[in-house]
This record gives sequence, C-alpha cells and structure tokens, in this order.
Amino acid sequence: MIPVWFSLTLKFMSIAVVAVCVGLWQGAAAGWAAACAGLGLLHAVHVNHLSRMERWLINPSADTLPDPSGTWGLVFAGVYRALRLEARKRDAVDRELELFTQAAQALPDGIVMLDSGDQLLWCNETAAKHLGLNPSTDYGLRITNIVRVARLAAFLQSAKRDDILDYRPAHNPGQTLSLEVIPFSDGRKLLVSFDITLIERADTTRRDFIANVSHELRTPLTVIHGFLEHMTDAPVQPAEQARRHIGMMVQQSNRMLKLVDDLLMLSRLEGGDAPQREERVDVYAMAHMLVEDARALSAGRHTIEMAVAPDACITGSAEELRSAFGNLVSNAVRYTPTTLPPGRITLAWRTNEKGGALFSVTDTGIGIAAEHIPRLTERFYRVDRGRSRETGGTGLGLAIVKHVLLRHQATLEIQSEPGAGCEFRIVFPPWRSVTDVSAPVAADAA
Ligand code: ADP
Repeated sequence: MIPVWFSLTLKFMSIAVVAVCVGLWQGAAAGWAAACAGLGLLHAVHVNHLSRMERWLINPSADTLPDPSGTWGLVFAGVYRALRLEARKRDAVDRELELFTQAAQALPDGIVMLDSGDQLLWCNETAAKHLGLNPSTDYGLRITNIVRVARLAAFLQSAKRDDILDYRPAHNPGQTLSLEVIPFSDGRKLLVSFDITLIERADTTRRDFIANVSHELRTPLTVIHGFLEHMTDAPVQPAEQARRHIGMMVQQSNRMLKLVDDLLMLSRLEGGDAPQREERVDVYAMAHMLVEDARALSAGRHTIEMAVAPDACITGSAEELRSAFGNLVSNAVRYTPTTLPPGRITLAWRTNEKGGALFSVTDTGIGIAAEHIPRLTERFYRVDRGRSRETGGTGLGLAIVKHVLLRHQATLEIQSEPGAGCEFRIVFPPWRSVTDVSAPVAADAA
C-alpha cells in the first residue's frame, strides 16, 4: 500500500504538471484554471471521505465500514482496527470488574467502600444486611448519616489498622459484628464487617461451662477440705464421729467421680459424629439390667416394670445406648418421690407407625413445667438444683442422652406436666431396627 503522504504529494505534483502543460499550451490563465480545477476536485474527494468517516464514527461497526479503495481505505481500516482493539480492552476490563464484583459479593464478610469524606461508594450484599444499607438509594451519602451511631463515627475518624469495633446493630438484635477499617488510595477506606455472633455465643458457652464445672467440683471439695482440716486440728476423734466424717468424704468424692465420669463421657461423645462400634444390641437384656439397677437405686420404694419383647433389638453402640437409657431410668427413680402407694416407673419398647423403634421411660413423679422442657438437654440445666444435688445428679445426664441420640440419628420426645409425671421417648429411625436375627449380638449390654 502507498503511504498517505506519498499519495497526496503525487496527486499535487500531477495537478501541477497538468496545470504547467495547459499553461504552456493555452496560456497562463488556462494553466491556473486547470490547477484550481484539479485542487478543487482533490478537495471535494477528501471532504467526501471525511464526512463519511464523521458519520461512521457515530456508530462504528464492521458492517457499515466505508470501503473506499486507495489511501482512505487505509485510514478507515486503521481507525477501525484501533477502535476494535479499544473495545476489546474495554470488554476485558468490564469482565474483570464484573468478576471482582461477583467475588466481593460472594464473600461471607461485609465490605463497604468509602471515599475520603466517608461517603458510600459501594457495598456488597452482606454489608448491606449487616449495617442496614440500601445500595439503590444510599450511594453518595455519608455512612454516618445512614448508620447513626456515635461510636462508629469516632471509630471511622480515628481507627488505625488492626483496630476493631464490636457493634450490635439495632435492626438485628442478637447479632454481634466486628468492624475493621482498612485505608487505601487517597484517603479512601474499606469498612469490613464480620459476623461474630456464633463465636461470641461459643465463648459465652465455654465460659459458663468452665464456671459450672468449677462450681460443681468446688462444693464437694470444700466439704472434704473442711473435714481434713478438722482432722488435722483434732487428730484424735471419737471413733463414731471419725467414721461419720469419713463416710461423708467418701460420699462427696463419689459425687466428684461421677461428675468427672460424665464430663469424660460427654467429651468423648462430642468428639465424633458416629459411634465407634455399630453392633446388634439386645434391648431386652439391656432393659432387664436397667430394671435391676433401678430397683437397687429405688430400694423398694417404687414399682418398676418393663414392657419389652424378648426379641427387641437395634443397631448402635451398646455402651452408649446403655448410658442414654440408664440416665432416663435413674432420673425417673430420682424424680419420683417415695409415696404411698409407691410411684410407678415403666420401661417400654415398641414400633411406631413409621416403622421406627421407640424406647420410653414413664414415671409418676414430680413432672416438669412446659417452659423447662426445651432446655433440659443443656449442660447443667436443672429445674430444681437442690433436688438434683440431693439425689446425686450432675446436671449432665440429659446432655449425654442428647449426644448419644445425635450419633444414632434418634430424637428425644418429652411429655410432662408438673405433678403428673413424665414420659421420655427415644425414637430411632426405621433403618436401625434389626431384621437380621442371625447377626451377632452385643450380649453383655452392660
Ligand atoms: P440431673 O443430674 O440434675 O438429673 P439431667 O440432665 O439428667 O441432670 O436432668 C436435667 C434436669 O431435668 C433435672 O435436674 C430435672 O430437673 C429434670 N428431669 C430430668 N428427668 C426428670 C424426670 N423424670 N422427672 C422430673 N424432672 C426430670
């Protein structure tokens, strides 16, 4: 292709040569006229091309690209190439921007972009929920005019990197956010919000748990310590008194042992999702042993019965199920007062309408008011702390039951009314019912 400057120079020279020839042949006036005509024609051609380009540039596309041959063709093609390159770069930038926006939207944490005057430039959906922002109306407003919290305004002004503000949004009671400010480019800021509600709740639970365990251990330890101090001060005591003191110390140390055993059991149950050993459990034999244990605990003060068929079986961990069933049975004995006629406790096994097996313990004891029922499986939750302690309770029995059931995909149903006794039902999924009677049995259910 001929370069533009060369083509134009050639055209001018051609016009000059023709004009000189005409001038020599027809006189100077004719030569000038020929030069003017040639230059006029050249001008008209270029003005035409320029106006076509002007029109085409309004909406440049390959389909409407003017295709004049020669030098102008080169110019059009060059402009089109440059425009296409520019459009491609713009598309790539748009795609990347969209990708970044999608990634920022997908973050579990809230992100708010503020300008140097704390005006809202952009925020993701999480931040909008956390701080109660409305992206369609709030962009351009100062964030402190939207979230009217004096602490936040002061924090935005003075926060340094790694400073944190704990914030409880008024529009979402119960939620706790942790806010952090990250400065960037020319006084702009990122305000990042993290939802720490669960972490805070876990922290409170952990603190409560440690306080509860310490308190539970402190009481028997104080009793033992008191007796030991007394023995140190007065080493010689009447035999009867010494025997009584030692008996009480044994009782308190048994209480501590039971608490530690329950804590160890709980921590083992919480350590995994499923029983380590799945086996065929002979529920009849297990219920039989539990009735024996309950009779020993009751010392003849209750009527204890069982309605369990001899072929009652389930798959699961015999040790864990024994612990869960045993806690329900011992609770029934402990919370059924000794009366005349004696309180009645019944262990039963049946199948429900969905084919799932159901183990129930029913008593005629003190019963439980409805408002306590949802909280009974919380660690150390007791309706009557004094009665629980008096009867040797640790406050962990039903928490153990809950974890055993979780590991066996079973549920606990509690039905009770104050003064009218309780029914605790464990409902197993149908697939845990044993159909293969030839499978090996966990014979020693204890
Ligand atoms: P505890 O060692 O105190 O018995 P549990 O976790 O076994 O702890 O039970 C939690 C609370 O549930 C008990 O303190 C008691 O108030 C109540 N409870 C459990 N079983 C019964 C029942 N059969 N009758 C009445 N109250 C019960």
